Parts: sequence; C-alpha cells; structure tokens
Amino acid sequence: MAKRDYYDVLGVSKNAEQAEIKSAYRKLAIKYHPDKNPNNKEAEEKFKEAAEAYEVLSNPEKRQRYDRFGHAGNSASGGYGGGMNMEDIFSNFGDIFGGGNPFESFFGGGQSRGGRRAVKGTNLRIKVKLTLEEIAKGVEKKIKVNKQVVCKTCDGSGAKDRSSTSTCRTCGGTGSVRRVTNTILGQMQTTSTCPTCNGEGVEITAKCTTCHGEGLVRGEETISINIPAGVSEGMQLSMSGKGNAAPRGGVPGDLIILIEEIPHEILKRDGNNVIYDLYISFVDAALGASIEVPTIDGKAKIKIDPGTQGGKILRLKGKGIPEVNSYHKGDQLIYVNVWTPKALSQTEREQLEKLRESPNFKPQPGKNEKSFFERVKEFFE
Ligand SMILES: [Zn+2]
Ligand SMILES: [Zn+2]
Repeated sequence: MAKRDYYDVLGVSKNAEQAEIKSAYRKLAIKYHPDKNPNNKEAEEKFKEAAEAYEVLSNPEKRQRYDRFGHAGNSASGGYGGGMNMEDIFSNFGDIFGGGNPFESFFGGGQSRGGRRAVKGTNLRIKVKLTLEEIAKGVEKKIKVNKQVVCKTCDGSGAKDRSSTSTCRTCGGTGSVRRVTNTILGQMQTTSTCPTCNGEGVEITAKCTTCHGEGLVRGEETISINIPAGVSEGMQLSMSGKGNAAPRGGVPGDLIILIEEIPHEILKRDGNNVIYDLYISFVDAALGASIEVPTIDGKAKIKIDPGTQGGKILRLKGKGIPEVNSYHKGDQLIYVNVWTPKALSQTEREQLEKLRESPNFKPQPGKNEKSFFERVKEFFE
C-alpha cells in the first residue's frame, strides 16, 4: 500500500507551524485511539499512520528530510519505515498531552493493555567526524557500531529453553503488585512494579548459558546514518530504535550521534559563512587581476578590481554552509591581503626606487575609503 503524504494524513498545510501539527495529531489520536475503537483494524491503521506522520513532522530534521526526499528521506534512518510500534506511540503521549496519558482517565484504558512493562534497550552514543565538505552537502555515513544485540541462542528470552520460564509467582504475570496500607485517611491501595520480574511478568528458572540470562550479547552492526547539511560541532542527532537491543521482545534504545568537525586545511568556518584569507601581490592589487580561490565545492574565479586596497572583503554569495532545517545558505567571505615582497633583486629594487617618488605611489586615503572597522561591520551585520 502506498504511503499517504504526511501533511495530508494530519490535514495540515506544508508550512504549518509546530503548534498546528501537534493539535492536528492530538485530535486524530483521540478519534482513532484503540481504547475508543476496540477491534477496529481500520481505526488502528489510521492511529498508527497519524503517529508516524507526527513523528516525522514534529522533528525539524526529519521534517526537512521528508520535504526534500519524501518518504525515502527517513526510512533508512528512522526505524519506523514499516509503521510504528504501539508501545512507542503510547510512550510519546507524554509530550502531546502535556504529561500523563489522558486515556487512562478518558476511557479507563491505560493499564488494560496488560500491565506488563516492555523492556527498553539503552541508548547508544557514538561520535562522527565530518569534513567541512561533508557538512556543507550533508552525507550518508555507514558506521560499524559495537552494541548489545539480541542473543540468538535464546532469542532474547534469557531462558535456557522453553520449559525454563514460568509465569512470575509474585505478581501472577501482571507485572505489578498491589499493596494496601492503612493510613489516617483510611485504606490506600498503591500499585508498583513487581520486584521479582521487574514488571515483565515472567520468571526464568534456568538461564541461557550464552547470555547468562540477560537475553543480550555484544555484537556489531553497520548502521547507515543520514546526516543533514549544516550540522556543527557538538550537535547531537538521534535515531530511534538504533541503540542497544532490549531483551524479551522489548523496544531497542536510540542511537545518539555526536557531531565532530575536522578542521579544513585552508577554509575556516564562521557560523554558516566560510572564510578564506587571500594574498595578492601589490602589482595585482594595482593593475587588477582574475584569481582562482578554493571554495567548499571546487575552485571559483574572482575579479580583483584595479586599485584594490588590502583589507577589502569580497563575498561569494551562497558559497557557504546551509543552515540546518532551512533553505538559507551562508556565504564565502574572502579577506584580501596585499602581499609586500620581503626580498628583492637588484633590478627590482632599482625599478621600485624609480616608482617611489611618483605621486601615484603615495598613500592617499580619501573620504571614500572605509575604515577597517566599517568594512567588518558592513559584512557581519
Ligand atoms: Zn512478577
Ligand atoms: Zn541467551
């Protein structure tokens, strides 16, 4: 079945604000909630579809990739390409409804889906080093990570074999225990996670020998990570479900990617601008010249006007770094330095001596000459 456009799913426009997206999703989540539509396959599909659309459109990075590449933009990185897991959908309700799951009070649902708590894998952190060129264009990185994976021997159950698990005797498989305490206000009933099975409802009587009952072992996985253009040092990206696996059919944790920049040999990054220090001879400065300069995507020719002063700043519009989640791009700024020769031959010296007395060679900064401070101000404001 072809996937529907996420904006259509939520019934919002392409440039909808976050608040509008959230409110549209909230309405659909209430309308199609499984507790309100028991045994209704179609409602469940709609519920999942809306959750997936919200998952992408509420995340600026994912939304940008979706706007650029459509559904393909996120399938490789999200782990929700094949539809979202119910457990994830419910766990996200906290931020949609501002704390707490309203369905527990609306429909008396909440616990009715079985009190057994799914185990969640831990988050995994990795560092990714990027060159300025990779940052400028965005890049797909295939990275081998060492992480916890599901134990193949016991299929993540942690049990030696089929007969070595039983329903937890403490909680009877519900995963939670009730306690009645007497207080001055009368009897109070509290529910807490079962301490014997950690809320899983199952007790293991003989442990798997490969993973010692953990359900997990160390393993390697090659993960393909789509890094959007414009990221910067210290930024963190996260990929849901790509972290450490969870035992007993639980939800894997997230992969947190920390961005590191490899400094460029020639170009310097300043926010979204790229800065290049250009040195020209004073002959080129006086006569004018056409000069090749490096940029993040190859070489570019620039024109030096006759009579160019040292300290001039030239701008190559749009040759900088794009801003993450936006179509705006920075510029390349070229600082023009006039190179004064340090060594001269006898003939060169004689030629220059002749020019020394020419009135044209005397500095004559006029009113039109901008001060260094003014030039810098003009470029950075
Ligand atoms: Zn238990
Ligand atoms: Zn095992």
